[in-house]
Amino acid sequence: MKIALVGYGRMGQTVEGVARERGHEVTARVDGPGELARGLAADPPLGGARVAIEFTGASSAPEAILALAAAGVPVVSGSTGWGERRQEVESGVRGHAPRGAALLHAPNFSLGVQLFLRVARVAARLADRLDELDLHVLEVHHRHKADHPGGTARLLADLVVEEVSRKSSWAEGAPEGPADPGVLQVDAVRVGENPGTHILGIEGPDDRIELRHEARGRGGFARGAVLAAEWMEGRTGVCRVEEWLDDRFSSPGAP
Ligand code: NAD
Repeated sequence: MKIALVGYGRMGQTVEGVARERGHEVTARVDGPGELARGLAADPPLGGARVAIEFTGASSAPEAILALAAAGVPVVSGSTGWGERRQEVESGVRGHAPRGAALLHAPNFSLGVQLFLRVARVAARLADRLDELDLHVLEVHHRHKADHPGGTARLLADLVVEEVSRKSSWAEGAPEGPADPGVLQVDAVRVGENPGTHILGIEGPDDRIELRHEARGRGGFARGAVLAAEWMEGRTGVCRVEEWLDDRFSSPGAP
């Protein structure tokens, strides 16, 4: 498959290695403001890429996705921190679906993390039955990460609030004074070059359970993004990450 890399920083470069390993051709590497417009104006646009993998960052992702959609190029988007523009971007993609636009966005493409999130949901559902248990979320990332808490920690926090009836909301950081048991505490630590650690802590009166995912590098995110790009082939419109994962976890041969 011909792939364009939009954003050629830490993630874009890691994605290139995985894409090559899986036999794909990288036809364009777009990095920096104005470069996407130049790549789309080329003949053929983006070297004839069938899909773009976007890792530009929160402030650039919405415009990049909309430009790719207008050109009818399907996008796998990994940039986090642009949730407030999601509806607008998705409706733009839907509008261009007849000419081939498609979007699959995931704040975390690691299949290990996705398995972790599914296990965390089951654990939270069980914890809902044991009133004496309290829960919290902790995430650790490298100090270059712009957003906090990160997209995956938000997903983890949201699913705990959905599953545990005694948690009505989540909030970042320790409150002043005693903690409200109805609020799930979410903490983010930015340190060194940590590629990403997520912990769901379940605290009981006599014991503690920790569900923990620890990334060893960026390879897992990149592999997931390339597998998602393979899955996207032939699809149009806004695809949900759950659709990809349901296919992935139910049929072992699926990309
Ligand atoms: P990075 O800063 O190393 O790379 C971003 C690159 O995008 C830079 O090289 C920059 O020059 C380029 N860029 C910025 N604006 C651009 C534009 N308008 N057009 C083209 N290129 C542009 O960042 P990174 O570590 O690669 O992370 C990128 C994003 O991916 C962040 O939002 C991060 O949180 C997210 N991320 C997601 C996952 C996931 O699995 N979904 C995993 C890791 C990181």
